[in-house]
Amino acid sequence: MKEVQILDKKFREFIPENTIQERIKELASQINRDYEGKEMICIGVLNGAFIFAADLFRRLDIKARITFIKLASYAGTASSGEIKELIGWNEDLRDKSVLVIEDIVDTGITLEHTVDNLIIRNVREIRIAALLLKPEAYSKEIKIDYIGFEIPNDFVVGYGLDYNGEGRNLPSVYTLIP
Ligand code: 5GP
Repeated sequence: MKEVQILDKKFREFIPENTIQERIKELASQINRDYEGKEMICIGVLNGAFIFAADLFRRLDIKARITFIKLASYAGTASSGEIKELIGWNEDLRDKSVLVIEDIVDTGITLEHTVDNLIIRNVREIRIAALLLKPEAYSKEIKIDYIGFEIPNDFVVGYGLDYNGEGRNLPSVYTLIP
C-alpha cells in the first residue's frame, strides 16, 4: 500500500490513478450523450478541480467550451462557510447548457454558491460533475448528476486536492492516516 508524507501528515493511497481515469471515461461518455447538440460550457471550480476538469474535458467529443471560476472558503469554521470569489464570472452564460466541474463536494456550501450564481445568469440548464462526494457531510438539495466516487467523511489529497497547498500533483487520491 503506497504511503506519502505531506508536511506533518501521512496519507495512504485510496483511489489509484487508473481507477480514476477509467471512471472519468465513463462519466465523459454519459456527458457526451447528455449534451449532444447543445451549446455546452464547462465551468471548472479552481483550484482543486483543475486536473479533473482537464482530464474530463479532453474526453468530451462534443462541441464544448470551458471557463473557470476561483472560489475560496473564507470562514473560520466549516459550518459558517462564507465564500470569496477570487476569479469571477467573465463569460456570457445566457441560454448555455452548463456543466459545473467540482473536485470534491463536502457540505455543498461551495456548490450552492456556484449554482446560485448561475441561476441569476439565465443559463438554460445546469448539471454538476464532482469527482468526489462525501454523502455523510452533504447537506444540500442540489442534485449531483455525475459523481466519480462516493467517499467517507475523511480528508483526502491528490489529483488536484491539496493539504496546505501541497499534494495536488499526486496522480492518485490519498486519504489521511489518523
Ligand atoms: P464544501 O463547500 O462542499 O463544504 O467544500 C468544498 C471544498 O472544500 C472543496 O472544493 C475543497 O476545496 C474543500 N474540501 C472538502 N473536503 C476536502 C478534502 O477531503 N480534502 C481537500 N483537500 N479539500 C477538501
